[in-house]
Amino acid sequence: MASGLDQSETKFNNYVALITALKLTKEGLEEYVNIAMKDMYKKISNKCRGYLDCRDNCSKMHVANFDKWCDTCEKWREEIALYMRNKERISVVHWNKFESMIWSGGDKLTAINQVANVFVHECRNPMVSVTDDFSSIISLLENCKYFSIERNLLLNVRKVRNKYFAHNGTFTVEENDLVKCLDVLSGFLNNRSLQANSKCKQTYKKICDLKLKSKRENVIEISNISPMVYNLVRLHHDKPTIVLERVDDIISNKHSTFVKRQPYRRFDLILLYFFFLFYQFIMHGNLTDDIEDKDVLHGTGRFRE
Ligand SMILES: [Zn+2]
Repeated sequence: MASGLDQSETKFNNYVALITALKLTKEGLEEYVNIAMKDMYKKISNKCRGYLDCRDNCSKMHVANFDKWCDTCEKWREEIALYMRNKERISVVHWNKFESMIWSGGDKLTAINQVANVFVHECRNPMVSVTDDFSSIISLLENCKYFSIERNLLLNVRKVRNKYFAHNGTFTVEENDLVKCLDVLSGFLNNRSLQANSKCKQTYKKICDLKLKSKRENVIEISNISPMVYNLVRLHHDKPTIVLERVDDIISNKHSTFVKRQPYRRFDLILLYFFFLFYQFIMHGNLTDDIEDKDVLHGTGRFRE
C-alpha cells in the first residue's frame, strides 16, 4: 500500500499534469483566436470606412460620456457592441483603459488587441494580446458573438481552471478529479468550432494522452514545468497566492527564469506533505465549490477569473 508521502507526491504530480493541460490548452487556442480576431477586426473596419481619424482619443478623454465621443469612435463602439453577446456588458466596459483612437489604425496588432480586449471581463491592459492569458481567452469566447462555442463547455473549462488551480491552495489534485478535468478540456478542444483548427486538434490529442497515467511520465511538457512548479511550492508553500500567481505566469508563458531542480527532493516532499496536512486541518469546512466572481488576489486584483 502506498505511503501517505507517496500519495502526496502522486497528487502533486497530478496538479502539475493539470497545469500542463491548462498551458497546452491556452497554447492550442492561440492561433484560432488570433485568426478570428483579425477577421472580426477586418469586418468591423470595413463597416467604419470613410470616417476621419479620431484626434481626442475619446475613450480616454470622455470615458462613458458618449455624447462627446467623435463620430469615428462612436461608430467603432457601435460596431464592436454588435458582437457583444450580452448587450448590457458594453455599458460596463472600463473605457478609460482603452485608446479608441487606435481602433481605426488598420489591422496592426495594437488595434486588434484594443478591439478584442473590449470583450474581456475586467481587462487589465488592452494593449496586450488576449491570447497572453488563459482567463482572457475564455472571457473573449464567452462574451464575443463571433464565436459560437457552447456556453456550458466554457463554464466547465472555467470551473476546471478555478476550482483545481486558482482556488486550490493544496497544490494537489486527486486522480479521478484530474481525469474529469482532462475530459472537460479535451471535450472543449474537440467541439465543433475548434476541431477544424489543426493546432486545437493536436492539443486535443495531447490532452487525451495525459489521461493515461502510464503515459504522463514521458510527456515532455510535464517534465519541463514540473521542477519549476515544485520549487515554487517548496519556496512559497505558506504563501499560496505567490505560487498561484507564478504558476499562472508559467501557464501564460510569462516566466523567464528556469528554476533548477533541488537535490533534496524527498526531504522537501516531507515538508510539502506536512504542509498539506496542516492546510487540510485549517481549511476543513471552509472549502467551497463556489467559483463565482471571486478574486483570489484581493490585494492586487491581478488573479482574475
Ligand atoms: Zn474619437
